[in-house]
Amino acid sequence: MNDKLKKQIIEALKDQKEIFGDDLFEENILNRRTKIVAEKKEKYSVEPELFAEEKEEWEKAGSLEKLESLIKDCTACKLCEGRNKFVFGSGNPNADVMCVGEGPGAEEDKQGLPFVGRAGQLLTDILKAIKFERDEVYIANIVKCRPPGNRTPLPDEMDTCLPYLRKQYELIQPKLILCLGLTAAKGLLKSRESLTSMRGKIYEFEDAKVMVTYHPAALLRNPNWKRPCWEDLKKFKQLYDDLVK
Ligand code: SF4
Repeated sequence: MNDKLKKQIIEALKDQKEIFGDDLFEENILNRRTKIVAEKKEKYSVEPELFAEEKEEWEKAGSLEKLESLIKDCTACKLCEGRNKFVFGSGNPNADVMCVGEGPGAEEDKQGLPFVGRAGQLLTDILKAIKFERDEVYIANIVKCRPPGNRTPLPDEMDTCLPYLRKQYELIQPKLILCLGLTAAKGLLKSRESLTSMRGKIYEFEDAKVMVTYHPAALLRNPNWKRPCWEDLKKFKQLYDDLVK
């Protein structure tokens, strides 16, 4: 097989994954944190959340800075092994809008910031197109450490890391969340739907409304998706105007 054909196949597989996800990894795997919660439940016969003193330090953080300082050396899943930099998230701590991607890529891992490089620039442009400055919103990922070779984070890795995003959400209290790509949407909403079926719908995460669109990296691979992405963003902006303005 020649290099050109190999490249075409890889790009086609990436596109398939963007739309349909990876159902092979869909089954819920009991992760370390789920086990801890189950153990606490069994021990106290109540939800562990009721035991404030049983909470980990980071769960009690009162600010994003404090939270980051408490979790930046996390080793709760195996993604810590290949991490160069922990990518916590960045942006306005009082944002009405939170953008959620799947995980850091090579450039993010190098800089310790989410959505830098070409996909990051495209996200900035996308936000501008709907009249948001990048520093007006908050940007984070489902997993905070780069998966090896930019592979999709596994469900147990996403489940293990999700409580950190949930805590960021709790501290920021955004009114809207924009999920960038199917993996982010699955990680956050625990949905089994395809991206095609999720686009244009309004979901809920805690008290926030959630909409789903393409990941900017997917738009770079397939510019034909820019038009449908623009349709999603117009709906998202309309929802923002209805809820916030
Ligand atoms: S991806 Fe999340 S849970 Fe896994 S090691 Fe990194 S911070 Fe911890």
